Formats: sequence, structure tokens, C-alpha cells
Amino acid sequence: MNATHTPSSTSGSTQMAEPPPARLWDRNEHAPDGRLRVLHVATEVYPLVKTGGLGDILAALPVAQQAQGVDARLLLPGFPAILDGLDDVGLVADLGSLMGAARVRVLWGRIRGSGIPAYVVDAPWYYRREGNPYLGPDNRDWPDNARRFALLGKVAAHLAWGDVDPIWKADVLHAHDWHAGLAPVYLSQNPVRRVRSVFSVHNLAYQGLFSPDDWATLALEPWMLRPMYGLEYHGWGSFMKGGLAFSDWLSTVSPRYAYEITTPEGGAGMQGVLLERRERLSGILNGIDETVWDPQTDPLISANYGIHDLGRKVENKTRMQQELGLTVDPNRMLAVMISRLTNQKGADLVLQALPKMRELGIQLALLGSGDAHLQDAFRKAAEEAPDQVAVCIGYDERLAHRLIGAGDLILVPSRFEPCGLTQMYGLRYGTLPLVCKVGGLADTVTEYLDGQPSNGFVFQGGQISGLIDALERAAALWWHDRSGWEWRMRTAMEARHGWGPSAAEYLSLYQRLLGEWQ
Ligand code: ADP
Repeated sequence: MNATHTPSSTSGSTQMAEPPPARLWDRNEHAPDGRLRVLHVATEVYPLVKTGGLGDILAALPVAQQAQGVDARLLLPGFPAILDGLDDVGLVADLGSLMGAARVRVLWGRIRGSGIPAYVVDAPWYYRREGNPYLGPDNRDWPDNARRFALLGKVAAHLAWGDVDPIWKADVLHAHDWHAGLAPVYLSQNPVRRVRSVFSVHNLAYQGLFSPDDWATLALEPWMLRPMYGLEYHGWGSFMKGGLAFSDWLSTVSPRYAYEITTPEGGAGMQGVLLERRERLSGILNGIDETVWDPQTDPLISANYGIHDLGRKVENKTRMQQELGLTVDPNRMLAVMISRLTNQKGADLVLQALPKMRELGIQLALLGSGDAHLQDAFRKAAEEAPDQVAVCIGYDERLAHRLIGAGDLILVPSRFEPCGLTQMYGLRYGTLPLVCKVGGLADTVTEYLDGQPSNGFVFQGGQISGLIDALERAAALWWHDRSGWEWRMRTAMEARHGWGPSAAEYLSLYQRLLGEWQ
């Protein structure tokens, strides 16, 4: 692979003004100082591209790592929103044609707002498509997804080795989810070049399957496609399995999920390879960005509040009730839900529980989008009882903050949940989470029936009966023991969920891996 610092002329579908060569002193400000160099390979970073928790994590983890002395950088595909959201853009390398893309360049810039340093693969043919990064206008996978994300992996390996930017290489390549799953595979093609790889599973349910027709186009060696320790998966290839089989270390986003994915119930078909590699699998709980999610300073909510002036929280509720057309009553419990509307998230369970919630005097305000039949059913439920149920279909970051500021209860009844972020936002805002005891929900929310401090409500088994029991416990506490409710709010709000401890765990993991070479 050739890398050049000479800007080349604009041609073909490239309409963007030619970026100047990236300045050396921008890119190497940390390079010679002996810091550990980590390249995060991913497809999302908040606020530029976010379809779920992945984007939040890639926005916050590198910042926390930099605060701990790590030279953490991102490698992202050049989606329109990413190109538009970069500051100080410069050209690092023109790689010519690669993986079926006519013209591939690597740009350098900083994510606007956070200043996170990022390399971007600019391949207009593959990435300059508006809308969802993975799906076409027909809501189906883009047919060339295998090549689109193989390109990301290929550039990642070369960048990590030092072929793309001659003044930077990585010590550790950290790939996230299936889109980056081929990066450790390509990296393994040249072990002599001494870059360690970590692959993080954020959601095992999305496995990046590609058909045998694509195999020939991905520059993989035939042995890599073997079934047992390779990419082959029931006659298909899987990017996720590539990441799982070829990385030096695996991590996932909560300790409980790390165990669950080694079992037939939680392994989504990948439990064999995960069980085999369980000695090299860690569960590291995600954090939340405590500067963005802070009820004391959040500019998006009507009334700021903290643990010492909890009374102000109710202003957010009455304002929201008013705006959403719900009965305005500070005494009524408001449950909120902010979620993709899928069966994974237990959205269907909430639908089934709605009559019971009304009976218990619990209002629901839901924000989400997803499966069409669930969207329709929620819309219908809101039409039937507009003073009790409010439904906003869509994606709205601002409304998400306002609902979490306003709610008394936040519903997260997922059937499986690698980590989950909204329950942690709820904890921070004193909006008590009601969760199913799975994955990261089990690791962050506790309900003790023997008087120990609880911070929410927990049910087991992912069944409607469990959810209804938990709602009944919540209603009993709300109506009969308001000081008990406030005690839970304080317990929830006192705990910290920032990225510091998780970033420190990743750092010791990287150091351990690099130490294996000494
Ligand atoms: P997942 O990544 O599985 O969707 P997470 O709980 O890990 O679930 O992360 C979801 C993220 O997306 C959270 O930051 C949540 O607030 C946000 N989110 C989900 N749906 C919406 C929506 N409709 N509008 C605004 N934010 C949303």
C-alpha cells in the first residue's frame, strides 16, 4: 500500500474541495513522547453519527483515555456527517484504488466540539451516502457492505502498522463491533509488525454476515475462512466472528454480558468461539459522559437540580406533561422510555403492560423508533388515552434529555442488553430505572427486598408477569412511601458512572497485552 503526502487533484465523484496536506505538527503532537498509542476503529461517533450506544462510547472513551495519558485516535469511514463535522482537515495519504473503491484517501482532523483526533477514510463511492450508515433507502443492508467495511479494516491495519502516516503508528488497534471486525484479521496477516489488537463487542446480535460471493473481493487468505477458528459461519462469512477469532484480546461492555455471550442463550450462535477464548475475554462496563448527562448543568432541561434540591425536578415533569398533553399533576408517576423499538428492548412488553400501568396511575412518555408494527401500536395506544400515554416516534437527542429530566421512572425491560446507557442516565438524573436482570442492566441496577440500599426496580426472565410485578412494586413505593422513593433517588444519584474507571481498565488491558512481548 502506498502512502503519499502529495495532494492529488479532484476527480470522479469527489466534489469536496481538496484538503491541504495535514500539518505534521498537528498529527505528531503526542507521537514522540512515549505515550501508548491506540487506534480506535469504528463507524460512529456522537454527535456526528450515532445509531445507538456505540456512538456515545466512541465520543467519550478516547477523551477519558487522553486524560490518562494515552494517545488515543479514531479511524472512521468518511460518511457525509463525519466529513462535515471535522475541523482542521488535512490530507495524510492518497492510497489510490483499494478494495474496489476507485479513490481512497486518508484525511486527518479533529471532531468538532470534542477535538478528538481522527483519521478518516475518504472513499466517496463507498461512504458518501446520506441516511443510515448501514442501510439503503429501502431499509436493507447496502449490497456492498462487505467491501465498504472491509476497506475500513484494511486501512486500519495499514495505519496501525505505520504505512499510512509515516509519523504515527499504533501500539494497539482497538476495533469496535462487526463493522471493524476485519481490522484484526488483516492485522494478523503480518504479526512481525508488532501491533496488538483488541476487539470490543457492543452488540453480538449484529454479526456482519457476507455471502461466499463476496469472499474473493475481500483480500482474505483462504485459510482465514475456515469454520473453527476462522470467519466461516454456517456457510456465510461473518465480520463479527473475524474479530472474535483473530484478535489478541476480546472485550465486551459489561461483566455480566461477558458471561452471557459464552452461553447458548446469550451467544447468538457465537458461543463456541467465545467459550474457547474465554480466558481472553473481559467485561468492562461502559461509562457515560457525565458532562453531557448532568442534571445540575444540562442546558436542555427546564429546571436544573441535584441531590440537594431534588424538589426542582418536578418542574421538568409538569412542563413535559403540559407539552405532551398528559394530565398535568406533579403527584402522578411519569414513566419514560427512550429506545429503539425492537423486541430486544422489550418494547412489546411495555405495550402489553400499558393497561396495568394505567390502572396503577402511571403515565408513559415514550420516545423511539424501530419496528413498524411497534411504532403503529404505540401510536394507537396514545390515541386511545392521550392524557395517560404520549408517544413520539423519531430520534430526538434534546427530547431524550428532557424526558429523562422529567421522568420518575425509566423503563429498560430489555431481553438482552450488552450494557445499556439509558438506565445509567436515569440513575444520574434520579429517574429510577426499571430493568430486566440481564447484561449491563444487572450490573448497574439493584433492587433489594431486605432493606439494603436499592437504586431501581429489577425483574427476572423477560416475561410480562415479571414486568408487571416490578411496576406494582414501583407503584406501591410511589404511593405509600415517598421518602423511601426519594432514598432510592439519592442512592441512584450518588453513584458515579463516568469513564475514568473503565478507561483505566482498558489501559491495564493494553499494557498487559504489550507486556506479553517483553
Ligand atoms: P443501543 O445501543 O442498543 O440502542 P443503548 O442504551 O446502549 O442502546 O444506547 C442507546 C443510546 O441512544 C442512548 O444514548 C439513548 O439515549 C439513545 N437513543 C435511543 N433512541 C433514541 C431516540 N429515539 N431519540 C434520542 N436518543 C435515543
